[in-house]
Amino acid sequence: MRAADVGMTPGMALGHLSRVGSATAARLSRLGLRTVHDLLRHYPFRYDDFGTILPIGRLAAGTVATVRGRIELIENRRSPRRRLMLTEAVIVDATGSILAVWFNQPYLVRQFRPGDDVYLAGQASYEFRQLQLVNPSIELYRQLTLHTARLVPVYPATEGVTQRQIRALVQQALPAASLVPDGLPPALRQRLQLATRGWAIQQVHFPQHRQALESALRRLKFDEFFVLQLALQQARWQMSQIAAHAVPFQRDATTRLVQSFPFTLTQDQRAAAWKILQDLQRSVPMHRLLEGDVGAGKTVVVAIAALNVALSGGQTAVMAPTEILAVQHFQTFCRMFADFPVAVGLFTRTQRFVQARDATAPQPGRFKKAEILAMLGRGELDLVVGTHALLQESVRWQQLTLAAVDEQHRFGVQQRQLLVAAGSGASPHFLSLTATPIPRSLALVLYGDLAISAIRQRPRERKTVVTQLVSAAARQRLYQFIRDQVAVGRQAFVVCPLIDPSDRFGVKAVTAELAELQQRVFPDLRVGVLHGKLSAEKKTTTMADFLANRTSVLVTTTVVEVGVDVPNATIIVIEGAERFGLSQLHQLRGRVGRSGHQSYCFLCADATSPEVLERLAAFLQAKDGFALAELDLKFRGPGQLLGTLQSGFSHLRLATLADLEVAEIAKHEAAALLHQDPELAQHAVLRKQVADLQALVHLE
Ligand code: ADP
Ligand code: MG
Repeated sequence: MRAADVGMTPGMALGHLSRVGSATAARLSRLGLRTVHDLLRHYPFRYDDFGTILPIGRLAAGTVATVRGRIELIENRRSPRRRLMLTEAVIVDATGSILAVWFNQPYLVRQFRPGDDVYLAGQASYEFRQLQLVNPSIELYRQLTLHTARLVPVYPATEGVTQRQIRALVQQALPAASLVPDGLPPALRQRLQLATRGWAIQQVHFPQHRQALESALRRLKFDEFFVLQLALQQARWQMSQIAAHAVPFQRDATTRLVQSFPFTLTQDQRAAAWKILQDLQRSVPMHRLLEGDVGAGKTVVVAIAALNVALSGGQTAVMAPTEILAVQHFQTFCRMFADFPVAVGLFTRTQRFVQARDATAPQPGRFKKAEILAMLGRGELDLVVGTHALLQESVRWQQLTLAAVDEQHRFGVQQRQLLVAAGSGASPHFLSLTATPIPRSLALVLYGDLAISAIRQRPRERKTVVTQLVSAAARQRLYQFIRDQVAVGRQAFVVCPLIDPSDRFGVKAVTAELAELQQRVFPDLRVGVLHGKLSAEKKTTTMADFLANRTSVLVTTTVVEVGVDVPNATIIVIEGAERFGLSQLHQLRGRVGRSGHQSYCFLCADATSPEVLERLAAFLQAKDGFALAELDLKFRGPGQLLGTLQSGFSHLRLATLADLEVAEIAKHEAAALLHQDPELAQHAVLRKQVADLQALVHLE
């Protein structure tokens, strides 16, 4: 049946497929599946190779195969020991018979009857001195099978949605694959010997054989990289069309600023600052990524750049992912620029402060929104720290010259365009700061010549954070240790994960932990609490109390994840550590080890499966964020890793590190195509795919 015959289109909602009621549709949407096209792109994550069909007599323990035979008997019974429902069947063919056993699938006796001609697929094993198939796949004999007698796809599933269901649904949707537009120019496709898209989609779900699967994967992976490359390169090209303000290097002032720091810069900090200052001297907008482990000291590098910008008459925006961080950066810059002709502003949804040039007032002054916007427009503010609030339409800069984005993956390409629009017809220079480095191999292929500066050295007197896994039995000792540290003046973070997904702000987890710590564990200590639902005002006072050591223990959600700087805190306890990715754990650990004092990170895991322990053990051994990024790559693949870096990369569904060769080809081909047709005017399908992606990704 052709798609057109049933009127099925890729855009059709899944509710229109047969056997999809509203309950099933709701469950499917939990997997992100709403349309036929979503389903077609719901790729298997592995395949069971049940393609070998053997006579029953040829089975041996360990054999993975499909057999075909007649059901002699099929019935349910209760298992004697456990309260399990067992379904047993005997299947015969000309060469012998075999017992099949299923657990908790009593409905099978209604679907299959004695006398039915069936396929059974699975691994044969000896149980109770008899050859059996335990929980085999079963289906009626027919030409076109879904669950047996082939490479059988295994899909990401969810509660209430079985593999059998997904396979049957995908099969229903498959006729629409030929309607999914193929954006590759035919000449290119033929030159690279790539399959057509429709064929590739069909084969990736129900491959005829291994070789077909390989070809299908090659085509689909190529597409993922190709569209990404088109999007990246096109955005880069478009952004390079708008000139930026050139910023001359101010040697004396820069030296004076650097000498005012209570430390000497590391070699990497110097090199990064120097590179940035060189970029700023050009009228081509800078797009540079500054990678540096947590605590490596990226902020001072921004300060050096901002000083040069201010002295050239330009303005700098520093964008922080959270309000807490914005406040903290503001305080840092106020301190650094107290004796410099740099007016520093804070602009968040609820807080607006200004410290004047060559500040004389003891405290920054509080301002109204309209006042601060007017000052921005008149160029009276040289450096403004803010959150997303800085991206509102109403914000107009007199001469926005540098936009620094802390933890770059939180901002998208649209926000960049907003910043360009908010300026004075020029493009700002862009500097992205991140503590989650992109492994070099990946960066090269994905970004090509993206400018990257890395701060690998840690400031000299820093000590390594002692990191330990804490067993339930060791908890009391942990609490005593915290008490001892507090007694000598130190402070501790206790981080709670979101346990209940509906608890978006972590209120419940944190409140429960607070009650426990406050009442039972540390009735004598001052414990503060911080979570996403607190008012901005309350967050600020809570942070201020902790920063001033008026509270000793801060119970918090991951709002402290990025960048919070409390040098006197030497302990971080991470509850439910298994719920966090390695890079995220690393971010959290970076909250301590920020002073000369020895610091500690304690991981408390609720789950202790071998996988969890292996992952956490790797974390204990990894040296720095660069090593952890490589590990995340190993444990989770590039799509996952990049997904945590930048949301849009999660569209790399199939691509893995082993595919960098395909990525390389895609990169060259994308460049060649854009060279001929920069706007993709002749390639409507690609243009649409690129636009969809650009809406998601932050592109360098
Ligand atoms: P991050 O790279 O995580 O943003 P920060 O810029 O917040 O790190 O710096 C962390 C701390 O290290 C700050 O208190 C900062 O003053 C301090 N710091 C930065 N550079 C140096 C250095 N070269 N030597 C000593 N301390 C430094
Ligand atoms: Mg930082």
